[in-house]
Amino acid sequence: MDQVEEVKSKVDLVEVISSYLPLKKMGRNMGGLCPFHAEKTASFMISPERQVWKCFGCSLGGDVFTFLEKIEGWDFREALEELAKRVGVKLKQFEPTDKSRVRDKLIEINKLTTKFYSHLLFNHPAGERARKYLAGRGIKKETWEKFKLGYSPDSWDTLFKFLIKHKIPTADVAMSGLAIARSGSDRSFYDRFRDRLIFPISDSRGQVMGFSGRVLDANAREAKYVNTSETPLFVKGSLLFGLDIARSAIRDSNEAVLVEGEFDVLSAHQAGVENVIASKGTALTERQVAMLSRLSESVVLCFDKDVAGDNAARRGIELLDMAGVSVKVADLGGAKDPDEFAQDNPKGFTAAIASASNIYDFLIDSAVKRFDPKEADGQKKIGREILPVL
Ligand SMILES: [Zn+2]
Repeated sequence: MDQVEEVKSKVDLVEVISSYLPLKKMGRNMGGLCPFHAEKTASFMISPERQVWKCFGCSLGGDVFTFLEKIEGWDFREALEELAKRVGVKLKQFEPTDKSRVRDKLIEINKLTTKFYSHLLFNHPAGERARKYLAGRGIKKETWEKFKLGYSPDSWDTLFKFLIKHKIPTADVAMSGLAIARSGSDRSFYDRFRDRLIFPISDSRGQVMGFSGRVLDANAREAKYVNTSETPLFVKGSLLFGLDIARSAIRDSNEAVLVEGEFDVLSAHQAGVENVIASKGTALTERQVAMLSRLSESVVLCFDKDVAGDNAARRGIELLDMAGVSVKVADLGGAKDPDEFAQDNPKGFTAAIASASNIYDFLIDSAVKRFDPKEADGQKKIGREILPVL
């Protein structure tokens, strides 16, 4: 048996696919909504006996490798390497590709950094300010742990020195986006995150792809949030904060709740709503929509009131709609944002999510509030806003 067959024989196709989409038993097969084309009735089938899948809607099909190639955008070698790693087969004839070597290196650096920053938050005197800050915002210690939060100290090179001490070459630290080169000829570096609360941002499998850091001082002049710079791992618009943690709750409820920021996610989880993720303030991208539509058929938007009506948000709504995801909007009542709502009234927050209303009603209400439906001009504007979405 060659190694490709060996890997294949140790992997269960149903298990692999069920981590991407909900499956139901259908006679001798398993079935679900096809993740590769928009549909409302299931035509995506898996045969557990033969370990193959087939979609009778778009006629794609294949084995576990072709599934991962399609859904993750990997090539055959990447799919093979990932599966081999999962089932503990050491591949002989396949040297890792340059691309996968770089990814592994950066993942290793991010892992070390996550541990370092969370040690400072949890155990070190330097983390006291951040601990106080979290307590002040009502975030409990279990939640720090769950989201692997950390603290980057008020210093120019603590992380840099730590990584160098752990035998990470300077070039790799530079590539990780965690250190910035000083201008001038001395080729020295300084830490990107200084005196910030750190949020690791992971892919759906829980591998840390990058970080975002929030200032602790409300009067600070610097940007409120800073992110890892773009790296081969950390690609803007390709990640959703909290997806690794919310993933199974999203799959189980067949619904994702989308909020804007990190604290919205933390507070929602604390209030017991666990299928919550954040787009991180930006408009939804096609990649994010693709990830969401693979996991659930419905998304509840839980944004600040004005936001769901604006153009960027409307683009996201359109993308979700095109992907066949039903979009609802939660009413925040008088609260400023989901964070405030979930902290002040956890039960009310849970109820608001459960009774989210259809996006169309919301858009019509929002347009009618802003333009006068009795005036011809107002009618035109309302029509112009709503018709493209309908
Ligand atoms: Zn299909």
